[in-house]
Amino acid sequence: MLIEKKIAVITGAGKGIGLAISNGLANLGYQTVLISRNANDLQNASNEIIGAGGLAPQTFQLDITDTQKLTVIVNEIVLKYGRIDLLVNNAGIYLDGTLELTESELKSMIDTNLVAQFNLTKQVVPVMEKQGSGYIFNIVSRSGKVGFAGSGGYSASKFGMLGLNEALYHELVPKGIRVTALCPGWVNTRMAFDAGTPLKEMEMIQPEDLFETIKWLLSLSAGACVKEVVLEAPFSIS
Ligand code: NAP
Repeated sequence: MLIEKKIAVITGAGKGIGLAISNGLANLGYQTVLISRNANDLQNASNEIIGAGGLAPQTFQLDITDTQKLTVIVNEIVLKYGRIDLLVNNAGIYLDGTLELTESELKSMIDTNLVAQFNLTKQVVPVMEKQGSGYIFNIVSRSGKVGFAGSGGYSASKFGMLGLNEALYHELVPKGIRVTALCPGWVNTRMAFDAGTPLKEMEMIQPEDLFETIKWLLSLSAGACVKEVVLEAPFSIS
Protein backbone atom coordinates (compact mmCIF):
# COMPACT_ATOMS: atom_id res chain seq x y z
CA MET A 1 0.00 0.00 0.00
CA LEU A 2 1.09 3.58 -0.66
CA ILE A 3 1.97 5.63 2.39
CA GLU A 4 0.32 8.83 1.14
CA LYS A 5 -2.91 8.74 -0.85
CA LYS A 6 -2.31 9.20 -4.55
CA ILE A 7 -5.08 10.07 -6.98
CA ALA A 8 -5.64 8.22 -10.24
CA VAL A 9 -8.23 9.36 -12.81
CA ILE A 10 -9.31 6.67 -15.28
CA THR A 11 -11.67 7.21 -18.23
CA GLY A 12 -13.78 4.36 -19.62
CA ALA A 13 -13.38 2.76 -16.20
CA GLY A 14 -16.68 0.87 -16.25
CA LYS A 15 -15.55 -2.18 -18.16
CA GLY A 16 -12.77 -3.84 -20.14
CA ILE A 17 -9.27 -2.40 -19.96
CA GLY A 18 -10.31 0.63 -17.88
CA LEU A 19 -11.91 -1.58 -15.26
CA ALA A 20 -8.83 -3.82 -15.01
CA ILE A 21 -6.57 -0.79 -14.63
CA SER A 22 -8.89 0.76 -12.02
CA ASN A 23 -8.98 -2.48 -10.00
CA GLY A 24 -5.20 -2.80 -10.19
CA LEU A 25 -4.49 0.79 -9.17
CA ALA A 26 -6.97 0.58 -6.29
CA ASN A 27 -5.20 -2.58 -5.17
CA LEU A 28 -1.92 -0.60 -5.12
CA GLY A 29 -3.60 1.87 -2.75
CA TYR A 30 -4.56 4.62 -5.18
CA GLN A 31 -7.68 6.68 -4.62
CA THR A 32 -9.38 6.03 -7.95
CA VAL A 33 -11.64 8.45 -9.80
CA LEU A 34 -13.69 6.52 -12.33
CA ILE A 35 -15.24 8.20 -15.37
CA SER A 36 -17.60 6.38 -17.73
CA ARG A 37 -20.94 6.78 -19.48
CA ASN A 38 -22.84 3.91 -17.88
CA ALA A 39 -24.05 4.32 -14.28
CA ASN A 40 -24.51 0.56 -13.68
CA ASP A 41 -20.99 -0.19 -14.90
CA LEU A 42 -19.63 2.48 -12.57
CA GLN A 43 -21.58 1.06 -9.63
CA ASN A 44 -20.30 -2.47 -10.38
CA ALA A 45 -16.72 -1.21 -10.74
CA SER A 46 -17.03 0.62 -7.46
CA ASN A 47 -18.42 -2.48 -5.71
CA GLU A 48 -15.55 -4.62 -7.11
CA ILE A 49 -12.93 -2.19 -5.83
CA ILE A 50 -14.49 -1.85 -2.38
CA GLY A 51 -15.06 -5.64 -2.21
CA ALA A 52 -11.35 -6.20 -2.88
CA GLY A 53 -10.41 -3.86 -0.03
CA GLY A 54 -9.63 -0.72 -2.08
CA LEU A 55 -10.52 2.86 -1.20
CA ALA A 56 -14.09 3.73 -2.25
CA PRO A 57 -13.79 5.28 -5.71
CA GLN A 58 -15.17 8.63 -6.68
CA THR A 59 -17.34 8.06 -9.76
CA PHE A 60 -18.52 10.42 -12.48
CA GLN A 61 -21.08 9.36 -15.04
CA LEU A 62 -19.95 11.39 -18.02
CA ASP A 63 -19.59 11.35 -21.77
CA ILE A 64 -16.01 12.60 -22.12
CA THR A 65 -16.89 14.46 -25.31
CA ASP A 66 -18.78 16.93 -23.09
CA THR A 67 -15.91 19.39 -22.67
CA GLN A 68 -17.74 21.73 -20.28
CA LYS A 69 -18.55 18.92 -17.84
CA LEU A 70 -14.93 17.67 -18.06
CA THR A 71 -13.78 21.05 -16.80
CA VAL A 72 -16.28 20.99 -13.92
CA ILE A 73 -15.22 17.47 -12.93
CA VAL A 74 -11.49 18.19 -12.97
CA ASN A 75 -12.13 21.24 -10.76
CA GLU A 76 -14.19 19.07 -8.41
CA ILE A 77 -11.41 16.44 -8.20
CA VAL A 78 -8.79 19.08 -7.43
CA LEU A 79 -11.03 20.76 -4.86
CA LYS A 80 -11.62 17.43 -3.09
CA TYR A 81 -8.18 15.78 -3.30
CA GLY A 82 -5.83 18.68 -4.08
CA ARG A 83 -3.90 16.73 -6.71
CA ILE A 84 -3.97 14.30 -9.63
CA ASP A 85 -1.09 11.83 -9.79
CA LEU A 86 -2.16 9.59 -12.66
CA LEU A 87 -4.37 10.17 -15.66
CA VAL A 88 -5.32 7.11 -17.72
CA ASN A 89 -6.83 8.22 -21.04
CA ASN A 90 -8.54 4.93 -21.83
CA ALA A 91 -12.14 5.54 -23.01
CA GLY A 92 -12.53 4.84 -26.69
CA ILE A 93 -14.87 3.59 -29.38
CA TYR A 94 -14.39 1.46 -32.47
CA LEU A 95 -16.41 1.65 -35.68
CA ASP A 96 -15.61 -0.61 -38.61
CA GLY A 97 -14.65 0.89 -41.92
CA THR A 98 -12.50 3.26 -43.88
CA LEU A 99 -14.28 5.04 -46.75
CA GLU A 100 -17.49 3.15 -45.82
CA LEU A 101 -17.74 5.40 -42.75
CA THR A 102 -19.97 8.43 -42.87
CA GLU A 103 -18.39 11.74 -41.98
CA SER A 104 -20.31 11.80 -38.70
CA GLU A 105 -19.10 8.28 -37.78
CA LEU A 106 -15.51 9.32 -38.45
CA LYS A 107 -16.01 12.49 -36.43
CA SER A 108 -17.49 10.59 -33.50
CA MET A 109 -14.38 8.37 -33.33
CA ILE A 110 -12.05 11.37 -33.62
CA ASP A 111 -14.09 13.25 -30.99
CA THR A 112 -13.97 10.38 -28.48
CA ASN A 113 -10.56 8.85 -29.17
CA LEU A 114 -8.62 12.05 -29.73
CA VAL A 115 -10.36 15.37 -29.04
CA ALA A 116 -11.83 14.33 -25.67
CA GLN A 117 -8.46 12.91 -24.55
CA PHE A 118 -6.85 16.19 -25.64
CA ASN A 119 -9.39 18.23 -23.65
CA LEU A 120 -9.06 16.16 -20.48
CA THR A 121 -5.26 16.21 -20.68
CA LYS A 122 -5.38 19.98 -21.20
CA GLN A 123 -7.33 20.29 -17.92
CA VAL A 124 -5.10 17.92 -15.95
CA VAL A 125 -1.61 19.00 -17.05
CA PRO A 126 -1.66 22.37 -15.20
CA VAL A 127 -2.50 20.47 -12.01
CA MET A 128 0.46 18.13 -12.56
CA GLU A 129 2.73 21.06 -13.51
CA LYS A 130 1.89 22.73 -10.20
CA GLN A 131 2.79 19.50 -8.38
CA GLY A 132 5.94 19.06 -10.51
CA SER A 133 4.96 15.42 -10.97
CA GLY A 134 2.41 13.11 -12.56
CA TYR A 135 2.02 10.31 -15.05
CA ILE A 136 -0.24 10.24 -18.11
CA PHE A 137 -0.99 6.88 -19.71
CA ASN A 138 -2.59 6.99 -23.13
CA ILE A 139 -4.29 3.75 -24.12
CA VAL A 140 -3.79 3.90 -27.87
CA SER A 141 -3.72 0.70 -29.96
CA ARG A 142 -1.54 -1.19 -32.37
CA SER A 143 -3.89 0.48 -34.88
CA GLY A 144 -2.18 3.72 -33.86
CA LYS A 145 1.05 2.43 -35.37
CA VAL A 146 -0.13 0.29 -38.29
CA GLY A 147 -3.10 0.78 -40.62
CA PHE A 148 -5.26 -2.26 -41.33
CA ALA A 149 -7.65 -2.73 -44.24
CA GLY A 150 -11.20 -2.13 -43.04
CA SER A 151 -10.46 0.07 -40.02
CA GLY A 152 -9.02 3.29 -41.44
CA GLY A 153 -11.23 5.60 -39.38
CA TYR A 154 -10.23 3.99 -36.09
CA SER A 155 -6.56 4.07 -37.15
CA ALA A 156 -6.83 7.76 -38.04
CA SER A 157 -8.09 8.52 -34.53
CA LYS A 158 -5.41 6.37 -32.88
CA PHE A 159 -2.53 7.67 -35.07
CA GLY A 160 -3.65 11.13 -33.90
CA MET A 161 -3.60 10.06 -30.28
CA LEU A 162 -0.12 8.61 -30.67
CA GLY A 163 1.10 11.86 -32.25
CA LEU A 164 -0.31 13.82 -29.33
CA ASN A 165 1.37 11.36 -26.94
CA GLU A 166 4.73 11.87 -28.62
CA ALA A 167 4.54 15.68 -28.46
CA LEU A 168 3.41 15.63 -24.82
CA TYR A 169 6.19 13.20 -23.96
CA HIS A 170 8.79 15.69 -25.21
CA GLU A 171 7.07 18.69 -23.60
CA LEU A 172 6.22 17.24 -20.20
CA VAL A 173 9.00 14.83 -19.27
CA PRO A 174 11.42 17.76 -18.62
CA LYS A 175 8.80 19.11 -16.19
CA GLY A 176 8.70 15.90 -14.16
CA ILE A 177 5.51 14.57 -15.78
CA ARG A 178 5.79 11.20 -17.50
CA VAL A 179 3.80 10.26 -20.57
CA THR A 180 3.52 6.78 -22.06
CA ALA A 181 1.34 5.34 -24.81
CA LEU A 182 0.25 1.72 -24.51
CA CYS A 183 -0.40 0.23 -27.95
CA PRO A 184 -1.97 -3.21 -27.63
CA GLY A 185 -3.18 -5.53 -30.34
CA TRP A 186 -6.39 -7.49 -29.69
CA VAL A 187 -7.41 -7.30 -26.02
CA ASN A 188 -10.01 -9.65 -24.56
CA THR A 189 -12.87 -7.17 -24.07
CA ARG A 190 -16.28 -6.47 -25.53
CA MET A 191 -14.69 -4.11 -28.06
CA ALA A 192 -12.54 -6.85 -29.60
CA PHE A 193 -15.57 -9.06 -30.17
CA ASP A 194 -17.63 -6.16 -31.53
CA ALA A 195 -14.73 -5.44 -33.90
CA GLY A 196 -14.77 -9.05 -35.13
CA THR A 197 -11.57 -10.42 -33.63
CA PRO A 198 -10.61 -13.78 -35.15
CA LEU A 199 -8.99 -14.78 -31.85
CA LYS A 200 -10.34 -16.84 -28.98
CA GLU A 201 -10.43 -15.22 -25.53
CA MET A 202 -7.20 -16.78 -24.31
CA GLU A 203 -5.33 -16.00 -27.54
CA MET A 204 -5.73 -12.29 -26.86
CA ILE A 205 -3.91 -9.91 -24.56
CA GLN A 206 -5.81 -9.84 -21.26
CA PRO A 207 -7.05 -6.49 -19.84
CA GLU A 208 -4.97 -7.16 -16.69
CA ASP A 209 -1.82 -7.19 -18.87
CA LEU A 210 -2.36 -3.47 -19.48
CA PHE A 211 -2.48 -2.87 -15.73
CA GLU A 212 0.66 -5.01 -15.22
CA THR A 213 2.41 -2.86 -17.85
CA ILE A 214 1.39 0.30 -15.99
CA LYS A 215 2.58 -1.20 -12.70
CA TRP A 216 5.95 -1.98 -14.28
CA LEU A 217 6.22 1.55 -15.74
CA LEU A 218 5.45 3.05 -12.32
CA SER A 219 8.23 0.98 -10.78
CA LEU A 220 10.99 2.39 -13.02
CA SER A 221 13.60 4.72 -11.57
CA ALA A 222 13.56 8.49 -12.23
CA GLY A 223 16.20 8.09 -14.92
CA ALA A 224 14.16 5.74 -17.10
CA CYS A 225 11.38 7.11 -19.33
CA VAL A 226 9.29 5.06 -21.76
CA LYS A 227 7.48 6.85 -24.60
CA GLU A 228 5.43 3.90 -25.81
CA VAL A 229 4.89 0.21 -25.23
CA VAL A 230 3.59 -2.05 -28.00
CA LEU A 231 1.91 -5.27 -26.88
CA GLU A 232 1.31 -7.87 -29.55
CA ALA A 233 -1.28 -10.62 -29.53
CA PRO A 234 1.06 -13.29 -30.95
CA PHE A 235 -1.65 -15.27 -32.74
CA SER A 236 -2.54 -12.28 -34.93
CA ILE A 237 0.80 -10.69 -35.83
CA SER A 238 0.79 -9.39 -39.37
P1 NAP B 1 -14.72 -1.48 -23.97
O1 NAP B 1 -14.81 -2.75 -23.23
O2 NAP B 1 -15.71 -1.16 -25.03
O3 NAP B 1 -14.67 -0.30 -22.91
C1 NAP B 1 -14.59 1.04 -23.32
C2 NAP B 1 -15.00 1.91 -22.16
O4 NAP B 1 -14.93 3.29 -22.58
C3 NAP B 1 -16.44 1.66 -21.73
O5 NAP B 1 -16.52 1.77 -20.32
C4 NAP B 1 -17.19 2.81 -22.41
O6 NAP B 1 -18.38 3.17 -21.77
C5 NAP B 1 -16.18 3.91 -22.28
N1 NAP B 1 -16.46 5.00 -23.19
C6 NAP B 1 -16.56 4.94 -24.54
N2 NAP B 1 -16.87 6.17 -25.02
C7 NAP B 1 -16.97 6.99 -23.95
C8 NAP B 1 -17.29 8.35 -23.80
N3 NAP B 1 -17.58 9.14 -24.83
N4 NAP B 1 -17.30 8.88 -22.55
C9 NAP B 1 -17.03 8.10 -21.48
N5 NAP B 1 -16.73 6.80 -21.56
C10 NAP B 1 -16.71 6.25 -22.79
O7 NAP B 1 -13.32 -1.35 -24.72
P2 NAP B 1 -11.82 -1.71 -24.26
O8 NAP B 1 -11.35 -2.78 -25.12
O9 NAP B 1 -11.71 -1.81 -22.78
O10 NAP B 1 -11.12 -0.36 -24.77
C11 NAP B 1 -10.43 0.55 -23.93
C12 NAP B 1 -9.43 1.32 -24.79
O11 NAP B 1 -8.48 0.40 -25.33
C13 NAP B 1 -10.06 2.03 -25.99
O12 NAP B 1 -9.45 3.28 -26.15
C14 NAP B 1 -9.71 1.11 -27.16
O13 NAP B 1 -9.65 1.81 -28.37
C15 NAP B 1 -8.36 0.60 -26.72
N6 NAP B 1 -7.95 -0.67 -27.35
C16 NAP B 1 -8.75 -1.79 -27.30
C17 NAP B 1 -8.32 -2.96 -27.91
C18 NAP B 1 -9.13 -4.23 -27.91
O14 NAP B 1 -8.83 -5.15 -28.71
N7 NAP B 1 -10.11 -4.37 -27.04
C19 NAP B 1 -7.08 -3.00 -28.57
C20 NAP B 1 -6.29 -1.86 -28.60
C21 NAP B 1 -6.74 -0.69 -27.97
P3 NAP B 1 -19.81 2.71 -22.40
O15 NAP B 1 -19.82 1.21 -22.34
O16 NAP B 1 -20.82 3.35 -21.57
O17 NAP B 1 -19.78 3.19 -23.83
